[in-house]
Amino acid sequence: MHEFAYLRARDAKSAVAAVARAETVRYLAGGTTLYDLMKLSLETPSKVVDINRLGLDQIEVGEGEVVLGALARMSDVADHQLVATRYPAVSESLWKAASQQLRNMASLGGNLLQRTRCAYFRGGEPYACNKRTPGSGCAALQGQNRNHALFGGSGDCIATYPGDFATSLLAFDAIVDVEGPDGKRSIPISELHLEPGDTPQKEHSLRHGELITRIRIPATAAGRASTYHKVRDRESYAFALVSAAAAVQIKDGVVIEARLSLGGVATKPWRAKEAEAFLLGKHLAEAIAREAGDLAFADAKVTDQNKFKKELGARVVADALMIAKGRV
Ligand code: SF4
Repeated sequence: MHEFAYLRARDAKSAVAAVARAETVRYLAGGTTLYDLMKLSLETPSKVVDINRLGLDQIEVGEGEVVLGALARMSDVADHQLVATRYPAVSESLWKAASQQLRNMASLGGNLLQRTRCAYFRGGEPYACNKRTPGSGCAALQGQNRNHALFGGSGDCIATYPGDFATSLLAFDAIVDVEGPDGKRSIPISELHLEPGDTPQKEHSLRHGELITRIRIPATAAGRASTYHKVRDRESYAFALVSAAAAVQIKDGVVIEARLSLGGVATKPWRAKEAEAFLLGKHLAEAIAREAGDLAFADAKVTDQNKFKKELGARVVADALMIAKGRV
């Protein structure tokens, strides 16, 4: 690993100023993503700014919204009783990710910004990878793409976004608050991550120096009847082959609110809006849940290696909806 300078920030303003000073400076929170990428030489910062003492680790579950500090640890939020009761999908998305040791270290903000697990991206030379080296090509298009995306890909990149937490946040229309050199702003979670297009190296809408300070989840009655259902090659410490965050509200026997987002199958957390609309007014039973699953994956663009995810995904959605219904 190359040498870098270390600075411990005392407050958010000075942290932002220190990072904004040069493109090569990075924030350091739990370090579980950044150090990983540095060891692979995918990140080579000249300086890291330690933000762990900024106090941004609150977990507040109010009637109007949930407020989560960006430096709250994954395990603390996953285990928080009110989060687990009122938003089980959020809690489950956290405790089904990574390992206990990693969850104890990793911050929520860092988790949102984790980078793809595409082996060509992480493998370095001699693999072509537009995300790592723009313009070099994409080895995955004709190579190993079993884990790659069915939605949101381009001719330049089909890598999946690997996170679970962001997928659950998307189902609840969460907001990400940031502080940057030009002041504060709020970004809908649906606009935080970007599809690759012809610039796959640009993965999120944050400007350099902007620091995620809080994540806010607006209140919804569907929160309690929710789940994060994750299917992977092994039962723990693995990324999703397919996952679904599902939440429903049922009145007089029919669905009056449905929220559905998909993970492991797209280049960014993916909302299944057509399936949500289909469910409204329906009596939610297994056949209807399966129809919603088929609808969620109707437009999937598959390769020979990842086409199994289309059937698997429809089943995961159906199962997630029935689990959510069981919590009404
Ligand atoms: Fe790189 Fe994306 Fe292609 Fe993977 S899918 S090799 S990350 S360009």
